Amino acid sequence: LERTFIAIKPDGVQRGLISEIISRFERKGFKLVAIKIVKPSKEFAQKHYHDLKDRPFFNGLCDFLSSGPVIAMVWEGEGVVKYGRKLIGATDPQKSEPGTIRGDLAVVVGRNIIHGSDAPDTAKDEINLWFKPEDLV
Ligand code: ATP
Ligand code: MG
Repeated sequence: LERTFIAIKPDGVQRGLISEIISRFERKGFKLVAIKIVKPSKEFAQKHYHDLKDRPFFNGLCDFLSSGPVIAMVWEGEGVVKYGRKLIGATDPQKSEPGTIRGDLAVVVGRNIIHGSDAPDTAKDEINLWFKPEDLV
């Protein structure tokens, strides 16, 4: 069954949105197969966002991801990569639809509270970066 990597970023944790976000994935019917709370180092954040290393916001983005605790999760279900992105909404919360996590709960792109893998192959890479195989149930 398909799996995706989802992370509640430091702003989402700090704002008390953990249960709100988890419940949206649960209510949809996806299955939580791994979860942990972790404060990533900047080096780890750079690995996670390596595809964006040439973007002007890369340094600030990695500083931000490593600024506090993150909830790292793996969710499983049919179509979970694509539909997970749908639950999350567009990258820029000004463009995400109401009803999505970012549309309902965030305002600016640099504080968009949640990450979701963008394709099945990046999902595999991200799950391997954040979790050991034995962490998954
Ligand atoms: P994520 O990978 O976090 O799930 P995404 O896939 O919707 O988000 P990406 O293009 O992968 O979007 O960008 C990664 C993150 O970089 C975004 O979630 C956002 O926090 C930040 N970001 C993207 N574009 C900008 C920008 N123009 N200015 C500042 N930060 C940005
Ligand atoms: Mg992305």
